[in-house]
Amino acid sequence: MTLNRYPCDDIAESVRAEAMRLGFTACGFARAEPVGEAECRYYEEWIASGRNGCMDYAKRYCEVRDNPQLLLEGAKTVISVALGYYPAEFQDAESPQFSYYAYGSDYHDVVKARLRVLAQYIKELTGCDSRVCVDTAPIREKYWAQRAGIGFVGRNNLLIIPGKGSFYFLGELVTTLELPPDEQCELSCGDCRRCEQACPAGALQGGAAVDATRCLSCLLIENRGELPEWVGKKVGKRIYGCDTCQQCCPHNTRAEKSEVPEFAINRRLQHITAAEISTMTEEDFRKLFRSSAVRRIKLPQLLRNLAMIQ
Ligand code: SF4
Ligand code: SF4
Repeated sequence: MTLNRYPCDDIAESVRAEAMRLGFTACGFARAEPVGEAECRYYEEWIASGRNGCMDYAKRYCEVRDNPQLLLEGAKTVISVALGYYPAEFQDAESPQFSYYAYGSDYHDVVKARLRVLAQYIKELTGCDSRVCVDTAPIREKYWAQRAGIGFVGRNNLLIIPGKGSFYFLGELVTTLELPPDEQCELSCGDCRRCEQACPAGALQGGAAVDATRCLSCLLIENRGELPEWVGKKVGKRIYGCDTCQQCCPHNTRAEKSEVPEFAINRRLQHITAAEISTMTEEDFRKLFRSSAVRRIKLPQLLRNLAMIQ
């Protein structure tokens, strides 16, 4: 099949339908072009203020991050997709708490696998090339999701899909296929400030971009060194990530349980105790988190986090 045998809208709807068949909740298109000036300035200010904390990678590949055309020669469209991970079952309340996104298999692998199928579908349908991005390539995923009409960036710095909430992984296909762009989502949080007030660490004060020097999720996962002493007073039972600014958000009141089998909670993690974690060997750690996003940190870091909650 070749591109010129199809009217553009038919191709767009075929691609969207294939994305939905693959389990994505939302799929939108934006023109692949340099990121808007206001967005670039906002990001530069965030870096200049030091609020990126230990996330040094945020300073790298700025040129590419500002222009998805540099990710793929001849790029015409950014296809943005969202895959739900809100759990059907939760950890025991007394267990050291892992963020919902880490309950099942590593989202990088799960979203990537589905996007590769979508890329292949586009290749067969149109002959066009695509590049898969899932939180690894330098691309502003929330910005593109908003441009593609999927949702808006909330004060908690996460993408909120109207009527669906924020417990979604985002992924992108940068493609040489030209698709009609969707209308940008123009909604906002309005007067709501619940997440700012609920954040136990004050990481959402002073502007929408999160202060990674205070955010517990950033500190527990991205920080490889010693944690500041105050973390022990704020961390509660969190050992890997933090969901507070999503749990309190009114858009998540009716969050839909994920039907993605790979995101179902790991049974051992569901009932795990502090004692089990504290006596874990490297081999136990590897086995338990073999296919989980938690493998991004190492056992000593998990034990460091555990020490904070005891
Ligand atoms: S993840 Fe937790 S610590 Fe970080 S901004 Fe949200 S509520 Fe605050
Ligand atoms: S809690 Fe309120 S302010 Fe925060 S992201 Fe949700 S709607 Fe926006």
